[in-house]
Amino acid sequence: MTIAEDGRWQWMQPFPDTVKIEADIIKVTPPWQFYYPLEVPSLPNALAKIDHKEAAVAFVQKYGLLGYSGLGQDPIHLETSKYRPYEGDPLSWFLAQASTVRFVLNLIVMLQNNDERALNDWIMAQAVSIPFKVFDPSAPKEVRIPAHVLAEGQEVVHMHYSEEGPPCETYNFGIDWALSLIAFLVNVNTYGFRRRLVHYYTKKRLVPGLSARALIEAIWYMVGQAALSLPKSKLPVIRLCEECGTPFLVTDRRQRFCPGDGFSRGSLCGARYRMRRSRQNRQERRNRNGQEAPRSR
Ligand SMILES: [Zn+2]
Repeated sequence: MTIAEDGRWQWMQPFPDTVKIEADIIKVTPPWQFYYPLEVPSLPNALAKIDHKEAAVAFVQKYGLLGYSGLGQDPIHLETSKYRPYEGDPLSWFLAQASTVRFVLNLIVMLQNNDERALNDWIMAQAVSIPFKVFDPSAPKEVRIPAHVLAEGQEVVHMHYSEEGPPCETYNFGIDWALSLIAFLVNVNTYGFRRRLVHYYTKKRLVPGLSARALIEAIWYMVGQAALSLPKSKLPVIRLCEECGTPFLVTDRRQRFCPGDGFSRGSLCGARYRMRRSRQNRQERRNRNGQEAPRSR
């Protein structure tokens, strides 16, 4: 059970040198400390950046496992069930969850922009070609179809992409497909996320709390909250970082870059951008001086 007695949901943050990959499973060993992921709005962005093994390890060193085995718990009886962190997160599943979060954050950005053509093209560009046999074992093996690889709870599935919607005039292909998919992925990935009453032991009263079976459910909850502002909140709730292009949840309207890691204030992408700009400016100044020099002679 990972709720602090004041109702705040907490998760295990390992010590960095205890994170290892063994047989393609990311593992951590105790001891650990606790932190409050629902107070770290940079988490969806931090996960969306992960696309290889070393980055996954660095993520776990900072924020803990996504909690693969926790998703096997009965969400109603979390007090009595036991999460087994030593079982670790399968690397392929971890990367599929990261790319699914990135996919949905990008869909939300595209929906904010309200450009249906661009949305359709982008969805199509994200699809991979897979044998139709995956869906229909009797299909000939050379037939291939476009599909998206998406993480649903502990599973990684292929979802067939078809430009045919239901026969109804109000069905707007790209937009309705995207909205249904976001709802589906958020629902299935937050299955165990719920409100609970918590016994605040030292104050002898009950307080409301939110709880999840695993860190990944808390991250999907934050993604879902951002999606609820669609279609037209006055300000975009998700932006693309101007340095690396990764989507992030906007917590300050001036924000242009990926946020810091939640434990320090600075944005690495912001710092990288400023450093490059100042190098460019210096170079431009040098070029200008170089050009002016002959004229002054
Ligand atoms: Zn960035």
